[in-house]
Parts: sequence; structure tokens; C-alpha cells
Amino acid sequence: MTVTEKIAEGIYLIDAHMWFPGLASVYLVVGRRVALVETGLSTSAPYILEGMRELGFRPEDISFVVVTHAHLDHAGGAGILMKQLPRARLVVHKSGAPHLVDPTRLLNGARRSLGDMVADRYRLDLVVPVDVARVDTVEGGENLDLEGRKLELMAAPGHCPHHICPYELQHRALFCGDLLGTYNKPYDILSPTTPAPEFNLRITVETINRLKQMDIRMLLFSHFGPSAEVERLFDSAIAKHTCWGQIVEEAAREDRGPEHIYQKLLAQIREDNPFMPDWLNLEAAPMYAKGYLTYLEREAAGHK
Ligand SMILES: [Zn+2]
Repeated sequence: MTVTEKIAEGIYLIDAHMWFPGLASVYLVVGRRVALVETGLSTSAPYILEGMRELGFRPEDISFVVVTHAHLDHAGGAGILMKQLPRARLVVHKSGAPHLVDPTRLLNGARRSLGDMVADRYRLDLVVPVDVARVDTVEGGENLDLEGRKLELMAAPGHCPHHICPYELQHRALFCGDLLGTYNKPYDILSPTTPAPEFNLRITVETINRLKQMDIRMLLFSHFGPSAEVERLFDSAIAKHTCWGQIVEEAAREDRGPEHIYQKLLAQIREDNPFMPDWLNLEAAPMYAKGYLTYLEREAAGHK
């Protein structure tokens, strides 16, 4: 059974079942037209379709599928899902779109950064391309009109340069993708997601500071669920991203090799993710440490 939840009038959460419940959420936003925000993994489509059915929506009711960015846990299911949603258009940043129309580079990159075993878990073999004729590209700043409800598509770089955050104007709700990290409500902990090669700490902080100037009353995390603690979580996201950066930077300065850096970050990741199965923390440590190291190298090269 798929878990669904009414978040607010016209906004519903569907658990995309990323390996287990409670890790990846997709959202239905309902005006006279209906949008789905995020697609989850390539294995998520059956859960999303069942969730839609439970909430009273048919596949042909969906006009738009909006993805915050072209990473596998947000858009890996786009190709499969679009085949099931006959009237939907896919809305994605113009720099993310090529990876969904031709996933070859996305899949090769994922195999490189995740390793074969982890790549299996993401079911890369099930990822299929999205028909280019059904893709609408955006750059941030556009409005998506759902007739009676509007989504403003905010440019929100940091986690990656092509990240967007849809902003629902009626409830002032921000679909924050991976910009702020993973939020676990029962533990009330926010934990960064900082994969190489595109994560940028400086730009993450700039984007969050820009969003802090807006009237946002609800955060809708892709991992996982809603929170009304907007200002506190914005501040916590900046603090955590900065703290992880300091840990990696200090460990790198000790010059004892990559394993030492992973171990240092792993200790913090375990502290920040007490709810996560340890195999996920073990996989996250090298991936996220590399994100910071690549960022630091890029900044150093830029400042020469
Ligand atoms: Zn993600």
C-alpha cells in the first residue's frame, strides 16, 4: 500500500518508496490542472500511480510533471512515468533536460560516482528516455499556471547548478528538492546532500539567503515531507552545510588520504542521520566528502 497524505488544500504527498517508506516524497498540486512534483526513482512509478488513484486522480488528469533537478532519485522515474501519463508535459531546467532526453551521461556518471553495487539499487537498467517533444525547459523565474493555482519556478542552484524550487503561491509553500538537504521530522534533523561534481557550498548558502527574504510558510522536502519551521530550517541548513565543509576541509589539511576524510565526515553523518540504515551512511560519506573536495578544489583554482 502506498502512503499518501493531505498537506494542505490542494497539496498532497505520495511516498515514492525509495527502497523503503519515508525517504522520497513526491507531491500532487491541484488546480483545475494538476501537477506532480518529482518522480522518484525508476522503481517509483507504480507507487505514485497507486497513490494518485487513492487520492482520486487518473493518469490523464496530470498536466505537468515538474522535477527539481535531473538526479536519479528526483527524475530517474521521469521516462517511465511520462509513458503512463498521456497528457503530461515534463518541466525541467534547460541544463537538466538533456540528461532526461538522453540519460546515457546521467547513467554513466551515476555508475562512476556510486559504483556498480549501488547503481544496481538505483535500478539504472529501468531508466528510459523522456520524449523530447513532451519536455518544457525553464531557467527559473517562470510561472506554471495550474488554473486557480500557480507555481513560481525559482532558480535554486547549490546542490547542483540546474536545481529549481517550485513555489506555490496560495500556501506560500516551497518544494525544496535537495537544496536544504534531507529532513527527518521525527528526529527534527536536517542533513546535507552534497554529491560531486556539481555541489557548491558558497552558492547553496547564497540561494538559501535569497529564499530567506521571501514569504515562505511551508517547506516541502523531497526527502521527506512538510515542515512549517521555515526560518529555523533555513538557518539549520546553512549551519549544517558549513559545518560539514569545515570537517572536510580540516581533514583534508591533515593530509592523511581520502579514507581519513571519509571517516571524519562519516562520524558527523552518523550523528546527523541516526534514523538512516548504516549502509546508506557508509555510502553517503565518500560521495558527499567528494562533493566538498571537488568544490574546494574548484574554489581554490578560481581564486588563484
Ligand atoms: Zn535527492
